[in-house]
Amino acid sequence: MVLRRGYLGSLIQRSTIGSSLSKLGTSSLASQAASSLQQLCEPSSCSDGEYADIDWNNLGFGLTPTDYMYTMKCSKDENFKQGQVRRYGNIELSPSAGVLNYGQGLFEGIKAYRRENGRLFLFRPDQNAIRMQIGAERMCMISPSIEQFVHAVKETALANRRWIPPPGKGSLYIRPLLIGSGAILGLAPSPEYTFLIYASPVGNYFKEGTAPLNLYVEDEFHRASRGGAGGVKSITNYAPALKAQSKAQNGGFSDVLYLDAVNKRNIEEASSCNIFMVKDNVVSTPATAGTILEGITRRSIIDIARDLGYQVEERSIPVEELIDAEEVFCTGTAVGVAPVGSITYQGKRVEYEMGTQLVCGKLHSTFAGIQRGTVEDKRGWIVEI
Ligand SMILES: *Cc1c(COP(=O)(O)O)cnc(C)c1O
Repeated sequence: MVLRRGYLGSLIQRSTIGSSLSKLGTSSLASQAASSLQQLCEPSSCSDGEYADIDWNNLGFGLTPTDYMYTMKCSKDENFKQGQVRRYGNIELSPSAGVLNYGQGLFEGIKAYRRENGRLFLFRPDQNAIRMQIGAERMCMISPSIEQFVHAVKETALANRRWIPPPGKGSLYIRPLLIGSGAILGLAPSPEYTFLIYASPVGNYFKEGTAPLNLYVEDEFHRASRGGAGGVKSITNYAPALKAQSKAQNGGFSDVLYLDAVNKRNIEEASSCNIFMVKDNVVSTPATAGTILEGITRRSIIDIARDLGYQVEERSIPVEELIDAEEVFCTGTAVGVAPVGSITYQGKRVEYEMGTQLVCGKLHSTFAGIQRGTVEDKRGWIVEI
């Protein structure tokens, strides 16, 4: 592909971004962001190609830095006001920033898709905004409003639109962060917060691709405990999970399946996705009560399963029940709806059926169809950018 560089290229780039932002009809915020984008977009580094020059056929879940990111700051006694799209790059932080010292931070994950007709979409971004607000309350942080969050996600996706993969090749994974960026020494909420969004084109999350996952039930390490922050997307939940994850991966497994920390008996979820089982046409998933992250994919799959006529139960699921399950699958923005091929618990491996005729396959094709536009979006989950 041709990268048109230089002055002419930058003019074309500016006018395309400017006009697509104004198409949003989101008023002055959009035009202010467009003008800040123009200021920050240096002619030498802009290009106007429809697609970035990368191999779209081999996307994994690695980081591919894109052109722009979004930042917005506020002090602890204010609300967020005005953010800006700027060139992607490193950020500067005080060594005593709350996030670096005490882990005051939250993240989100949203995908932007390109359809065959070239139009660009997000899936339920308002739900990510709401979850960040709930998380911010738990972590004593200031959060952006739902409108600010969704607007910023759209801006980031549009500014990086040449990184949104061709239809069927993947998606642009958008990663909002809310961090305590102000300097603090004594343990207390940070005096300043930064809302930041970056993005990366991605394909499959697990190296298995679409092959079934092999889960290892972890009974030594726990992901979350009652009264902790397992129910919100706090960055503090993830570093402690690395050890169990690498233990599982070293044993040849795709991921860990965690048990509840109190009884070591009920299944909770995997490192970054929720879990479901199917037995006698009943779809079951562990009930969320503070130790399980309430996935937007999880909630959407529950709704889709009920629409398709399945009985859905949110309840405690003892690990032994998995032995008799007919199907098991995981859900999450990064993984999508991923079938589980086996689960290993205390040295015993149970294997599950596979195939598109199964419940998991039906749920997956309906879910993916809503995202692709081939299945009616009855609930207004799809947001055009
Ligand atoms: C993000 C996440 C999920 C999935 O949530 P979605 O909103 O469906 O992407 C599940 N579990 C954990 C631990 C997560 O961090």
